[in-house]
Amino acid sequence: MSAKVISGREVAETILTTDLKNKVLELNKKNIKPKLIVMLVGDMKASASYVAQKEKFAVKAGIESNVMRFEANVTEKEILSQIDNINNDKSIHGVIVQLPLPDHISVTKVLNRIDPSKDVDGFTPTNVGKLFLGEETLVSCTPKGIMQMLASTGTDLSGKNVTVVGRSNIVGKPVAILCLQQNATVTMCHSRTKDLNSKLADADVIIVAVGIPKFINGDQIPKGSIVIDVGIHNIDGKLCGDVDFDSASQKASAITPVPGGVGPMTVCALIENTIIAAERIG
Ligand code: NDP
Repeated sequence: MSAKVISGREVAETILTTDLKNKVLELNKKNIKPKLIVMLVGDMKASASYVAQKEKFAVKAGIESNVMRFEANVTEKEILSQIDNINNDKSIHGVIVQLPLPDHISVTKVLNRIDPSKDVDGFTPTNVGKLFLGEETLVSCTPKGIMQMLASTGTDLSGKNVTVVGRSNIVGKPVAILCLQQNATVTMCHSRTKDLNSKLADADVIIVAVGIPKFINGDQIPKGSIVIDVGIHNIDGKLCGDVDFDSASQKASAITPVPGGVGPMTVCALIENTIIAAERIG
C-alpha cells in the first residue's frame, strides 16, 4: 500500500488564492487593508528563509507584509518599545516575532507584550487560554494548519484515536486541544512516555512533533492511519521530517511530506490569522 500524499503546498495555495484572497477583497472594499509585521532579529539563515516564505504567501493573498529588521545586539528594551508602537498603530493588524531570539532577549517578555488582538502567532497567554477554553481566538499557526490538512482529507475526527508525539507549547499541546474539540480521543506522548509503540498501535491519526529526524518509522504505525509529520531537518543538504517517509508511506493511508507538508500550512495559517485580526480590529 502506498499512502496518499497530503500536499500542504497545494492545500495552502488553494486557501490563499481563493478563500483568503476573496476575504481580503471584501475587506479592501471597506477600506481595511490587512497588514502583517514580522520582527526579525539577527541574520540567522533559517529565519530569513521562513520570513521570505511569509512575504511570498502574503502577496498571494493580497495582504501587506513588512519585515522589521534588527541587529543581533538590539536591546530587549528596544524590541519591547517597537512592539508598543505596533500595538498602538491602527494600520497594523498582526505582528509576529521570528524565533529564536538572541539569549539576552526574553522570549516570554517579548511575546507577552504583544496585544492579543494582533498576536497572529497565537502565542500570548490570553490566546492560549482562550484556545484551552474553546473560545474564539487566534489559533497558533502550526496546529491550525495541521487541522486544515486533516480536514482536506475529509476525515471526521469524532471518535477517532489521535496520538500526538511531542508536547511543546507551540505544536503538541495546542493540536491535542484542537483534536479534543473535534471529539477525538487524544493520547499525548513525550520523552518520558513508556512503550510509545503501544500508544501508536491503535491510532487512526498520528501527529509527530519531536524534533528528531526519522524518529517514527513504518514498523511503528498501524496500517491505514493518517500521519502528520511536523518535524523539519536539514541532513547533509536534504530535508526530512520526524517520520521516515519511505517506510511510513507503505503503511499509512495518507501522510504529509517534508518539505511541502506542514511548513506551507503554517505560513498559510499566519496569513489567515492576519486577515481574521483585520476583520475583528477593523
Ligand atoms: P520541542 O523541542 O519544543 O518539543 C519536542 C517534544 O518532543 C517534547 O515534548 C519532547 O518531550 C518530545 N520528545 C523528545 N524526545 C522524545 C522521545 N524520545 N519520545 C517521545 N517524545 C519525545 O519541539 P517543537 O514542537 O517546537 O518542534 C518539533 C519539530 O517540529 C522540530 O523539528 C521543529 O523544527 C518542527 N517544527 C516545524 C514547524 C513547521 O512549520 N513545519 C513549526 C514548529 C516546529 P519532553 O516534553 O518530555 O521533553
